[in-house]
Parts: sequence; C-alpha cells; structure tokens
Amino acid sequence: KEQLDKGLEKTKESVLSKLSRAIAGKSRVDDDVLDNLEEALIMSDVGVETTVKIIERIQDRVARNKYMGTEELNAILKDEIVNLLEENNSVYNNKVTYGDEKKPYVIMVVGVNGVGKTTTIGKLAAQLTNNGKKVYLGAADTFRAAAIEQLTVWAERSKSTIIKQQMGSDPASVAFDTLSSAKKNDADVVIIDTAGRLHNKINLMNELSKIKNVMQKVIPDAPHEVLLVLDGSTGQNAFEQAKQFTKATDVTALALTKLDGTAKGGVVLGISDQFKIPVKFIGVGEGIDDLQLFDRKTFVESLFN
Ligand code: GDP
Repeated sequence: KEQLDKGLEKTKESVLSKLSRAIAGKSRVDDDVLDNLEEALIMSDVGVETTVKIIERIQDRVARNKYMGTEELNAILKDEIVNLLEENNSVYNNKVTYGDEKKPYVIMVVGVNGVGKTTTIGKLAAQLTNNGKKVYLGAADTFRAAAIEQLTVWAERSKSTIIKQQMGSDPASVAFDTLSSAKKNDADVVIIDTAGRLHNKINLMNELSKIKNVMQKVIPDAPHEVLLVLDGSTGQNAFEQAKQFTKATDVTALALTKLDGTAKGGVVLGISDQFKIPVKFIGVGEGIDDLQLFDRKTFVESLFN
C-alpha cells in the first residue's frame, strides 16, 4: 500500500487538484461541478467513453439527491470507479496463484518494445519463485539480441530457468522447447516473452498464432493467459496499442507499467473499461517488489486519499 501510494503520487496530485478545482467554492453538486469533474477525468487520461459513463452514473445519483454536497460527491465518485473496475476485474482475487490449478501454467506475454515487458516478466518470476514456484522463462523474442540477454539476467536474478536459442531463430520453436522442458521437469509456471513488432499487423497476428499453435502440441490448452504489457505513462498511446494487440490475439489480462512518475494513471480505468480486459498487474517502480497485483479498492483508495 505504501509503495502504491508513493508510486501513484503524481496521478494523485493531478487528479486531486483537478477534482478540488472542479468543486471549489461549491456547497452543492450542480451542472457546473459535473462539467468540471468531466474535464478533470478526461485530463487524467481516463478516456472520453469511460468518463461519460462515470459522469452519467453520478448524474443519476445526483438526480435522486438534489442536495448532494461536494463531500458526498467524492465518496460517490470513488464508489462508481470501484464498481466500474469491478465489472471488468471480478475474475481475479489478489493473490498470485499460478501453477496451483494447472501445471505448468503457461503465460504468453505480449507488448511493444520499451513498455517494460522484460522487467515485468522478471519481477513476476521473482515473486513466483519467492513463493516456492518453479518457473521457466522462454526467450521467444528472438528478434533482438538484447531481449535475450536481458531475460537471461532476469532469469538469474529470479532463480528461474531460461530456455533460449540464438537470435533470429524461430520464436515458435523456442516456445515449444520451453514448454517441453518445463513439462518434463515438473515446472509450476512458464512465462513466454514474445517480440512486439507492431509495424505489421498481419505479421504480428501470424507470429502470435503460430506460437500458440506450437505450444498446444505440448499443452493442449496453453497459453492459459495472454498478458499484454502497456506503458501507463504513454496515455493515449497505450490505448492504441491495446487496440492493435486485442485485434491480433485474445488478450486475457493487462499489466500497466510505469505508473510512478506519471500523472496519467487514469488510463488504468479507461483501458480496462474500454477493452473489457482485467488489469492484473501494475508497475509502480523499477524494483522487484514494484510489480503489484492490481486491487481495485486499494488502487482507488490510493488515488483519492
Ligand atoms: P521491454 O523492452 O518492453 O522489455 O522493456 P524493459 O523491461 O527493458 O523496460 C524498459 C525500461 O522501463 C527499463 O529501464 C525498466 O527498468 C523500466 N521500467 C519497467 N517497468 C517500470 C515501472 O513500473 N516503473 C518505472 N519507473 N520503470 C519501469
């Protein structure tokens, strides 16, 4: 909670200052207050659609209680945001339970370069091995030598086993090797890194579906999770990437990184709502413990208190 508070500081400052300006000098919630609130949400990168949805819900409640004070508005806003997040995030409890039901549990990680994909994989692997899980990493981003090297460093740091081939080799073949080896060695969790080249959508789609098909030769229902990593500090760019990747493959969960040092933390609400995909992890710093399981209540409390 402390790390989260610290990580969300900038978003918090901006959201809170905008909110307090929205309701400054008002004792009752009127159209003016709602207009200002709408603007504040849009400025925090919540996105137009989601903002309109939130405002409409609040309008409904204001209509039922004409003398609503601004303090009450604050409580209602929190409430509606938690509800909204719950609609898209109800499938998860806040524990890393990978590997308990399916073994090995296979996670395919997608996202463009630079968003924090490798770091997220490394942090997740470390948390899992700390919980006594046996973790295998597959270096299927064979497009960049640096990606393989970086993942190797994280494998050491997190005490996981890495399966890799040379740069330029077939990503699907790396995925096959990783799953085979993980299965043979009774691993709990497999995390497959993939190359995130967005410049050609058809290529991306083909590459990801080829990796999936090959994985299914080893484990028929793999991957159990497709985790899309997005850089939360890029605001609307993150929306755009979510659009591209959800078109290319079935994304089942989101990780939003770099929420520390940005005032754009509102993307968490907007993206989850717009794409109907649960946010599973948030990154609030570069350290191993700075990858947190997303908890809607704690997040909203952190943002508004
Ligand atoms: P990749 O190219 O997507 O694999 O990106 P990397 O994992 O190499 O991350 C790119 C940079 O972002 C690195 O310097 C990371 O330390 C940094 N980074 C990743 N996640 C976070 C985060 O949650 N907060 C901050 N501040 N930096 C992060």
